[in-house]
Amino acid sequence: MTVLDIQGIDNPILRKKTRKVTQFNRELQTLIDNMIETMREASGVGLAGPQVDQPLRLTIVETLPDYDEEGKEIDGTRDLFVLVNPEIVWKSEEMVTGIEGCLSIPGWVGEVSRHKSIRVKAQDRNGKHIRMRLHDWTARIVQHEVDHLDGVLYIDKLTKPENFWTEEEFSEMQEEAGSEEEKEVPAV
Ligand code: ZN
Repeated sequence: MTVLDIQGIDNPILRKKTRKVTQFNRELQTLIDNMIETMREASGVGLAGPQVDQPLRLTIVETLPDYDEEGKEIDGTRDLFVLVNPEIVWKSEEMVTGIEGCLSIPGWVGEVSRHKSIRVKAQDRNGKHIRMRLHDWTARIVQHEVDHLDGVLYIDKLTKPENFWTEEEFSEMQEEAGSEEEKEVPAV
């Protein structure tokens, strides 16, 4: 497997709408495997086609394990989703705000409001049609990824323009707020 170059916002591909995947061939399988490798290497939890210079409706998402209060993994299983041609077919009215980072905008985080739950229709890596209902963090990551496929970045959706910080500023803010555990913001 090969680690691919993650594109930054200076690459206009991140602002273009992607095209549907129609061939579930060997080339696609290699691209998916390389994207998984690239995401893990970058300690990310999601990655979309345009971020590796591929204008395709393709994204991968890996959920985080759950931790107990001492920081020990309770549920060490990570779920890996390969979503080809994903479509959000339902969104909850309920919105939740959260902090997001993006592998294409390294060193920065921002506050974004997302639907708490969504339903997604997609194909798996072999072209099989799948449907899933997602909540909370996983729903947030998938909304961020589907935006990538439409040329939209999280910085377009900040709750306020000033709710955008460097990682250093954000961790200082957390310290000032007396937050005991420093929250790491996983990038997608
Ligand atoms: Zn991103």
